[in-house]
Amino acid sequence: MSNAGEWAGERDDAQPVARVHVRAPGKVNLFLGVDAPDEDGYHPLSTVFQAVSLYEDVVATPADDVTVSVSGVADPSTVPLDDRNLALRAAKLLAVATGFDGGVHLELHKTVPVAGGMGGGSADAAAALLACNELWRTGLSHERLHALAARLGADVPFALMGGTAVGSGRGDVLTPALSRGRYEWVLLVDDEGLSTPAVYRAFDEIAAEDRASSDEAELARARRIDPVQVPPEFFEALLSGDALRLGGHLRNQLEAGSFRLRPALESTLERLAADVVGGIVSGSGPTLALLCDTAESADALAERLRGEGRTALRAHGPVRGAHVVSAAD
Ligand code: ATP
Repeated sequence: MSNAGEWAGERDDAQPVARVHVRAPGKVNLFLGVDAPDEDGYHPLSTVFQAVSLYEDVVATPADDVTVSVSGVADPSTVPLDDRNLALRAAKLLAVATGFDGGVHLELHKTVPVAGGMGGGSADAAAALLACNELWRTGLSHERLHALAARLGADVPFALMGGTAVGSGRGDVLTPALSRGRYEWVLLVDDEGLSTPAVYRAFDEIAAEDRASSDEAELARARRIDPVQVPPEFFEALLSGDALRLGGHLRNQLEAGSFRLRPALESTLERLAADVVGGIVSGSGPTLALLCDTAESADALAERLRGEGRTALRAHGPVRGAHVVSAAD
């Protein structure tokens, strides 16, 4: 083992663990305000994340190299197994940071829809960080894992943290938010994912067109994409534990971009408005997050949508962030 890593000193040189199972949640953005892009092209965000009970299970076992395999996805070609895989990158980043020169095999068991706007890849990365830290006994503190998570992607720190949190900056500067109660969701999944960068590009196009237009309808749309901050009433609704109240405050500005790329999302939300207490595109989409007032009404809606041939998943939130389910010596 080399000691070159920035945090190599943390390592416990006891025998490595034989198998670690970590679980990490997907997320819904209950609120997503998008500002104009900065000089690097990133959009500053004002967001509120809620971790929901769709989980990614990652099992880490010792190996010579860093490798990954995936199950639970309808089309395996949608998840890269090379260095583009976020879990693999997470393991390699931890190895470099700690100077660990062994390997790991990561089995990803996915239930979060791929490219669905629910942070599945980010959950895999968070789970891989935690699992390898345990497997390799690299002993990084939670703060240091959080710092590595932020280097991997804006949604990765939240997958570690879980619960409900306000995100600012690129979404990676997190403050836990007080929330009461349990919220019942139906996640309506689209067969084909949406690329997050493409959704942001569509969002920027709309903003540019609207600035250039004097048309009343265009200007009304422009007001919809003027940057917003999370309003105080939103936090009051979260504290009330009342789904009906929270439902009225759900907001996702980025959905203008998702609607442009996939217009059926907007009409589906309109069609289902009477059945739910609130509905939004989850993150960049195309998954629709539908909030119901009770578990029974959510079950009934999911059942009905499945009867129409749609993929409708049930989940509740908030739930805890990435955690070790089991570790065997
Ligand atoms: P984002 O966090 O960007 O909003 P998302 O939640 O919409 O993403 P993900 O399922 O995280 O979607 O994956 C987005 C893309 O990232 C996929 O299309 C895939 O090419 C790539 N990817 C990399 N690693 C993973 C992974 N472990 N699981 C799924 N996709 C991954």
